[in-house]
This record gives sequence, structure tokens and C-alpha cells, in this order.
Amino acid sequence: MLAPALTNALTIDVEDYFQVSAFARYIPRSEWDSRECRVERNVDRILAMLAERNVKATFFTLAWIAERYPQLVRRIVDGGHELASHGCEHQRATDLTQAEFLNDVSRAKQVLEDIGGVPVLGYRAPSFSIGTGNLWAFDVLARTGHRYSSSIYPIAHDHYGMPDSPRFAYRLSAGILEVPVTTLRVGSRNLPSSGGGYFRLLPYALSRWMIQRVNRQDGESAVFYFHPWEIDPGQPRVPGIDAKTRFRHYVNIPRMESRLGTLLGDFRWGRMDDIFLDRPLTHPATSAVAGR
Ligand SMILES: [Zn+2]
Repeated sequence: MLAPALTNALTIDVEDYFQVSAFARYIPRSEWDSRECRVERNVDRILAMLAERNVKATFFTLAWIAERYPQLVRRIVDGGHELASHGCEHQRATDLTQAEFLNDVSRAKQVLEDIGGVPVLGYRAPSFSIGTGNLWAFDVLARTGHRYSSSIYPIAHDHYGMPDSPRFAYRLSAGILEVPVTTLRVGSRNLPSSGGGYFRLLPYALSRWMIQRVNRQDGESAVFYFHPWEIDPGQPRVPGIDAKTRFRHYVNIPRMESRLGTLLGDFRWGRMDDIFLDRPLTHPATSAVAGR
């Protein structure tokens, strides 16, 4: 145990390999039902890894998956994990009107709560798609009974990001707590240091160092995220995709499971709600986002 003082948040975005946003232009939604689904075996593998180490986590789950694999949702809940929402069908919030977003998040919450039998308090927008252009989304999340979100990525990236937003949990005027996935401040830039393709791409020792820095230097819990398909070297290859998308999706997938195992052993991990809800904020609202 390298950093016993702080518990970091382990989060899993429960979606299948053909649902990732980078594949959206290659695989239309109408084809989803005819694809080989791998999510159940992959989530079961994750649940086993967590049970072995007695780690609890937060599962941001698509309603599309929950409706097709209700028993999987119950196994997540029965394992002592937090069930949270990733929306219905992985549509970016930036692609939806306010009315469509309202419909998406309220339906997803209802579906997950009906199947899981527990309140759903957390929401993560697909592809971190809340930012400067759609901050109204937080009012919608508050109105639909969510208590926190993990939807703004404070980095510069070609698909998402709001580089000037706070790096740590802050409360919005709507009453929602936004808990961004973790970045490391280097000079005037925030570097992604909390999962996704970056965790597979970078040497493990560097990822570990970045989380240690956030724990020790910032005195904050890190928020780490990954996807079930990232531990699945046997997933069907999507043909005809561009080189950048191919690299980002497949890089180091065969190493991911053992790397995750090491990560789980090197830090203390827990659920988002346990770590962030009902705890005083160490970083008060400081930005235009928080103060609006
Ligand atoms: Zn997602």
C-alpha cells in the first residue's frame, strides 16, 4: 500500500466495445443488437477481480446494457458496488437538446433503479460531453434527482474537455457536485492521469506516480476510470477504422488486466458516493463554471 491515507475512486463505464463514441461513425446504433456482446463476461471478470481484493467501485452503466443484462446489474449491486448512470444509449450530451437530455437521463435513472433496486445518484456523460456549451445539463441532472456528476474533463482534447474547469470536486449552483476524473497539473497544463487510453499507453510506473502526486501534493482522492472492453483482448476487431482510432482503442489491451491488478494493490479504492458525497470540499468553487 503506497498511499494509505486516502481512498481513491475506482469507476467503470459499463458499455460494450461497439458503443464507444470513436466508433460511432463506423457502427450505427441500428447495428448494436446484431453485434456480439462481450460486456457481461468482461464485467463479471472485473467483479471477480474486485471481490478478490475486497475493493468496492462505482459502475456508470448504460441503460441499454442494463435492459439486456439485468442480472449483471444485480450482481454489481450485490457485490456492494455503487450503481450509477451513463445515460441510455451513449449519446453525447452535446448532441442532444435540453428536452432530449432530460428524457435520456431520467429514463436511464429509472431503468437502473428499477433493475438494481437502489437509488442512482451519480451520472457520467458519455465521452465527458458536458462543457462550456451545455452547462444547463447540470440543472437537468439536479432536477432529475442526481446528486453528483463526473462529466467534465479538465483537459484539452480533440473530442472533449474543458481545460479551465476545476480539477477537483466542486459544487455547481444547481446543487450538483461535479467530480472530475483526475488530472495532474504540470506548468500551466492539466495532464490526464486517471485511466482510459492514457493508462494503457503510458508506463505503469508513471501512472502510479501521477496518482501518488495527486494524493500527496494536492491532498485529494484520485478518480480513475476504465471500460470493460479494455480488459478484453478477444473482442472482435472493428474493420476499416482510421489509424488514430485504432491505436487509441487497442493499444496495450493485452496488458490491461494485469496492470489493473497492480493498480488495485498499490492504492486504496472505493465508491464515488462513499468518497465524495457528504464530505466537506477542500477546494471550494473557484471558477466561472462553479459560480455561474
Ligand atoms: Zn462511455
